Amino acid sequence: MSLRFLNTYSREVEDFIPLDPAGKAVKMYTCGPTVYNHAHIGNFRCYTFEDLLQRHLQARGYEVDRVMNLTDVDDKTIRGCRAEGIPLNQFTARYKQAFFDDAKTLRLLQAASYPAATEPENIARMIEMIARLLDLGIAYQAEDRSVYFRIARFADYGKLAHLNLEELRPSGRIRSDEYDKESIGDFALWKAWDEADGDVAWEAPWGRGRPGWHIECSAMATRLLGDEIDLHCGGVDNIFPHHEAEIAQSECCTGRKFVRYWLHNAHLLVEGQKMSKSLGNFFTLRDLLDKGYTGREIRYVLLTVHYRLPLNFTFAGLDSARSALGRIDEWIERLAEHAGAVAPEPTPLSEHREHFFAALDDDLNSAGAMGHFFDLVRESNRALDQNALTQAQSSQLVADWQRMNEVLALEPDSEVIPGDVLALVNAREAARRAKDWAKSDQLREEIAELGWAVKDTKEGPKLTRLQRHA
Ligand SMILES: [Zn+2]
Repeated sequence: MSLRFLNTYSREVEDFIPLDPAGKAVKMYTCGPTVYNHAHIGNFRCYTFEDLLQRHLQARGYEVDRVMNLTDVDDKTIRGCRAEGIPLNQFTARYKQAFFDDAKTLRLLQAASYPAATEPENIARMIEMIARLLDLGIAYQAEDRSVYFRIARFADYGKLAHLNLEELRPSGRIRSDEYDKESIGDFALWKAWDEADGDVAWEAPWGRGRPGWHIECSAMATRLLGDEIDLHCGGVDNIFPHHEAEIAQSECCTGRKFVRYWLHNAHLLVEGQKMSKSLGNFFTLRDLLDKGYTGREIRYVLLTVHYRLPLNFTFAGLDSARSALGRIDEWIERLAEHAGAVAPEPTPLSEHREHFFAALDDDLNSAGAMGHFFDLVRESNRALDQNALTQAQSSQLVADWQRMNEVLALEPDSEVIPGDVLALVNAREAARRAKDWAKSDQLREEIAELGWAVKDTKEGPKLTRLQRHA
């Protein structure tokens, strides 16, 4: 059965058929961070969902060309750099790097490219698109010198968000700063320079200024992926006006359907409440790492709730993630030890792997997939208890895990073993060879004091980090 997704545009579950006639290549655009501070875990819920989508498409044999933009000019980035008295690019470089570091911590696959709005080729493309919209009479320059998109000229405006265009018409009460626009729903393509912008400005045929946020994505998506793309993702809060505006701008410029499938993830709550600084429940990834949680544990929490459902992020949930991951580690270690180096042979338990992938085919049902995965863990543990699994079957299940883990990316962190620990392990091995068990035990205790457990296996001593006690 093919992949199917709930398309925000149609509100229907649709079979996924990419544009590529060979059915292999997939063009995917994902709205990236505004680099004015550290991204919070609500942002990372979105990026983790997109990572899962990319990984599952790849597991199903698609070749994914994914672009994620970086918004490095807007009100917030300008305010930030001016407050610090440093150039815009110096200010945003810091948060671009922080974003890449965080993405690595959460094991997010790299996109094929990360275009930034201020790169000259992207600014040029934005100016080209705005010029075209002005030529077509779809855009207009208002008295404030800014350029706006005339939503009345795009009949499909509101279709993605399922909004009635009438609701966007002025109702008689318009804020004073909206007077320049013809209609309250018209959005800025180009913001004329004003003093608050400092030295952040580009020259366009219609005057100095900077691009609006929406045109940035239209320009970068079509420049790098072409006029038509397969998948466009983001959080539900991006649907309107951002994605709606992207459709209007792109389709008016190209005359083609911009996106085939729109996928949006639901909100993230923290301890049942909307995340906000004033409630003290606002967390960046770093805040959680500082509390002793790992990227792997946070990834587990973000991944295992279906992306269309609100995710209630709690510390109890992080603790459960830690114990679930502990179960997985014990299971895989036990299987691998049993399998040894024997070649795999089929086992009926592999059907759980098929169910796991089938659940992901069904609109990326990660919660369902994890249910099948834990069925496998439970049943294969029981089979091992009852000596009902051959070594070759265990070996097959290890291979099944590796395939599922290409999508999950939940393998244990590879740990760097400190030199002093390694020296004690070597001394202990020498003591064991000399059958000096008392010394071997004493060295085991010294190793434990440094926070490591040593286990003797057929392949030699294995080290694992002892659980930290908070
Ligand atoms: Zn965007």
